[in-house]
Amino acid sequence: MRFPLSLYVSMTRYLLLMKWKGIERFPLVLMLEPTHRCNLTCAGCGRIREYQSTLGKEMSLEECLHSVDEAGTPVVTVTGGEPLLYSHAPSLVKELLKRRKHVYFCTNGLLLEEALPKFHPNTRFTWNVHFDGTEAVHDAIIGKPGGFQKAASGVQAAKRQGFRVSTNTTVYRETEISDLETLFTQLTDFGVDGILVAPGFSYEDVTGEVFLTRAEIIEKFRHIRKWQNRFPIISNPIYLDFLSGDRHFQCTPWGNPTRNPQGWKSPCYLITDTHYPAYGEFMEETDWDYYVSGRDPRCEQCMVHCGYEPTVVRRMNGRDLLRMIRWNLHVR
Ligand code: SF4
Ligand code: SF4
Repeated sequence: MRFPLSLYVSMTRYLLLMKWKGIERFPLVLMLEPTHRCNLTCAGCGRIREYQSTLGKEMSLEECLHSVDEAGTPVVTVTGGEPLLYSHAPSLVKELLKRRKHVYFCTNGLLLEEALPKFHPNTRFTWNVHFDGTEAVHDAIIGKPGGFQKAASGVQAAKRQGFRVSTNTTVYRETEISDLETLFTQLTDFGVDGILVAPGFSYEDVTGEVFLTRAEIIEKFRHIRKWQNRFPIISNPIYLDFLSGDRHFQCTPWGNPTRNPQGWKSPCYLITDTHYPAYGEFMEETDWDYYVSGRDPRCEQCMVHCGYEPTVVRRMNGRDLLRMIRWNLHVR
């Protein structure tokens, strides 16, 4: 199975509860960024640039848990920055698991192997390690020779110790399809449980032509989509149809809300108009109809998973559901 059964059970229960309560706009995954501090300066990273003046700030453990309770999502993605630099990372994961959350812990992998003794394998806990290409390509993007080997060694150690491990690859304009194919073969050989792949996001604070237009995304993902049964790709197949230009969706910007040391980031993971101190205020004050319409010029080229994967869940019909079940059960 590509995802553990417990994740489907939690998600289905949550969706039924929202329906029963008559709540129309609700989040699915909380993007929790307890710190933006990082030990890398990747070329395409918007976070370390947008939050340059507050990189030293971090959320307290209580603030993190309060935000998790406010959002109430069954899944929490702990990200950043490099969340292994967050002072309370092991306690945060422990508390999230106590709350029966499914936790995806995103890391660049540099500190992974050393951090493993502070964590425990759990079907609800997955390391999500960043790889943007084969060794030379990845090291050039992250600006650190040896970075690939360090992360790869962390992944293999985590697998040996019984952890669930997925990987996350961002596709940029310069990304070669053949390089991705080699990378995914390597990651599959490492025994990773899943490979996430998504187009790079066009952050306002990142200069340079590294990001793809919608037309370029469609061209690259028409190749990538064909690998779903060859590699353990866990990017949603219907979202991959959207990235390949075969489905058309509107964004669901409240689907994966972002909470960071500045507050609740509005309107979405990608663009920032303001931050709200409380989740209720964020949901009430953001002009959702405007962002769903796609009229904002910053939305023009956007196909980001945080905006469109929740739409897949909202718009799923019976045929899509059967396809998702078959896809999840698929054993290569
Ligand atoms: S590892 Fe992540 S947070 Fe750090 S610079 Fe790279 S993309 Fe940004
Ligand atoms: S389309 Fe993209 S940039 Fe616009 S609101 Fe949705 S996620 Fe944000």
